[in-house]
Formats: sequence, C-alpha cells, structure tokens
Amino acid sequence: MNGDWEFRPGYPLADCAAAWKKHRNLRGVPIAFLVGWAPFALFVAFPVGSIFHQHGLKALLAPGILMLLYFFCFAAIDGKRLSFLCPRCGSKFYRNGPGIFGLNRFARKCRNCGLRKWQCDGPMPVE
Ligand SMILES: [Zn+2]
Repeated sequence: MNGDWEFRPGYPLADCAAAWKKHRNLRGVPIAFLVGWAPFALFVAFPVGSIFHQHGLKALLAPGILMLLYFFCFAAIDGKRLSFLCPRCGSKFYRNGPGIFGLNRFARKCRNCGLRKWQCDGPMPVE
C-alpha cells in the first residue's frame, strides 16, 4: 500500500454483493479449461481433425487450430477474470500496474485499497 489510491467515479458500487457474485461465477472457468484441455484434445480436436483424412503434418493442422482456439478462449476468460474491478475503489483487484505488471492472480485483497476478497466493507487502509 503506497497511500496514493483513490476511488473511481461511481465507486463504491451500490450493489457490491452482485459484483462479487458475478466474479465468483467466473472463478471455476479457468480451472475447468486447465483440467479439460487433454480431454478436449483427445475427444474433440483429433476426431474432428480426422474428418479431413490427411496424412503427415497436415493431419495435425485442424487439431492444432482447434487447440489454439481453445487456449485463446482460456486466455480471454482468464483475462476477463483478472480484470475484475474492485467494488469499493474501482481499480483492478488483481493488478496494481499497467498490463501484466503488478499482477497477483491469487490476491486475497484489493491491490489498490486493501478490500478483502468477497467482502463489501472493511477497514479503510490507514496511512
Ligand atoms: Zn479496491
């Protein structure tokens, strides 16, 4: 905590619990993607790729494209989750820098104001 945090206009949110609930719904999706990549490859990507009856390296083209799409979907959903705005201060909950800098994907407190995860009110940081 460096003491230069501030509230964005419109924050704190009036319906903080709804913001957390929406965020909680996204929580399991990246885990499901990580667990599901091998079954997706075995039961979807390679069978779909075999439709094209190609041999050699060309046989890997369709499954490779499907797997790329799979990982782009994973990155998009995980990026959306990690861009969650803190319901109290309106800053990014998991980041305190531009882009991927200052990212802590396991943060239990807002990286800006210190609001604990899943809470709507709490002690303001004392500077
Ligand atoms: Zn905050």
